[in-house]
Amino acid sequence: MILSETTLHDLILRIVAAAGSDASETAIVADHLLRANLTGHDSHGAGMLATYMQSIKAGLLKPNTAVSKVTDSGAILVFDGGRGYGQRVAREAMEQAIARCRETGVVLMALRNAHHIGRIGSYGEQSIEAGLISLHFVNVTDHPPLVTAHNGGAARFLTNPICFAIPGTDKTPPALLDMATSKVALGKARVALYAGKQLPEGSLIDADGQPTTDPRVLMAEPRGALRPCGAYTGYGIAFFCELLAGALTGGGTMQPGNPRHGSIVNNMLTIVIDPARLVDLAFLRAEIDAMTAYVLSSPPAADADEDIMIAGEPERRALVKRRKEGIPMDDNTWKELLAIAADLGVKTGDLQTKG
Ligand code: NAD
Repeated sequence: MILSETTLHDLILRIVAAAGSDASETAIVADHLLRANLTGHDSHGAGMLATYMQSIKAGLLKPNTAVSKVTDSGAILVFDGGRGYGQRVAREAMEQAIARCRETGVVLMALRNAHHIGRIGSYGEQSIEAGLISLHFVNVTDHPPLVTAHNGGAARFLTNPICFAIPGTDKTPPALLDMATSKVALGKARVALYAGKQLPEGSLIDADGQPTTDPRVLMAEPRGALRPCGAYTGYGIAFFCELLAGALTGGGTMQPGNPRHGSIVNNMLTIVIDPARLVDLAFLRAEIDAMTAYVLSSPPAADADEDIMIAGEPERRALVKRRKEGIPMDDNTWKELLAIAADLGVKTGDLQTKG
């Protein structure tokens, strides 16, 4: 089925508000989830609400929790998310990091103990809007691991994402690399499962370590696992996410001595940079324009199935298309959202769908 932006936004707003969030938190969470759907990342959109509702019921996600500052030493800020909605606490931590960066030129910001912070690109977008550059390293804990090491036959990580963001110019759009370090993001495996689809060859193993394309192995016990992206290189980045985002923020890594309550906790180490403290901005913009044009002018490979793009372009294209044509949603996710709404006593009969 196809949903309009307004319908999906409305449904998310009603669910998050009925689950206890105040109006401002509800708006932040709903805007974040809707934008994930609009940019083509259904894995991190409204479909996450089922997980969030389970976490709230289990006391593992605490609505109406603001980020709290643990330490402030000038260019280094440490925050605790207090298991609040990650979309809210990470946004608040970024707002403070961006404000500080205007004074100090660079900020190292650590955020620990946030419930799922969603699409990391949304924090890169905050920096871009502020004219700043940011780098984000994230680990995922409080849940059994579901991603292997390179050559590993059992899971040792979750999908530890990274994100790099740099503003654009008047000729070139911003670049935003925002990616899971697993071959397929976990939420995309959920989307494939619900849509009755297989995952690409080489992306997962079953509980016996045998390669498979069936996403059901991730849900049934004993569980299979996703493989890292880029073989040993993606695995290397996932490992560094554990140490940078897990150990260095104080939030903890995926090592089994740390508790796993079954929810999703994200820890994030972020570097925010004011480029004007390093180079003349006219030079930087000219380099961005020239380098981007150089990459995009490359001839296509003989087996290319799409044009050459800079990171962030697929999301921009999805945003234009989905704003115009609506947001596709599989029947299982739609039914799940209606069931959540019914459970919370939320009325949905007036919501319009496009078939
Ligand atoms: P993806 O593979 O769709 O895209 C990854 C990156 O590659 C994006 O920056 C995209 O713009 C770029 N890209 C895609 N196709 C391209 C092409 N043909 N040419 C050039 N660039 C291209 O994303 P993903 O790895 O599946 O991650 C999906 C989302 O999941 C992200 O928003 C990520 O932050 C989120 N995520 C969150 C968590 C968490 O714990 N909060 C964990 C994992 C992933």
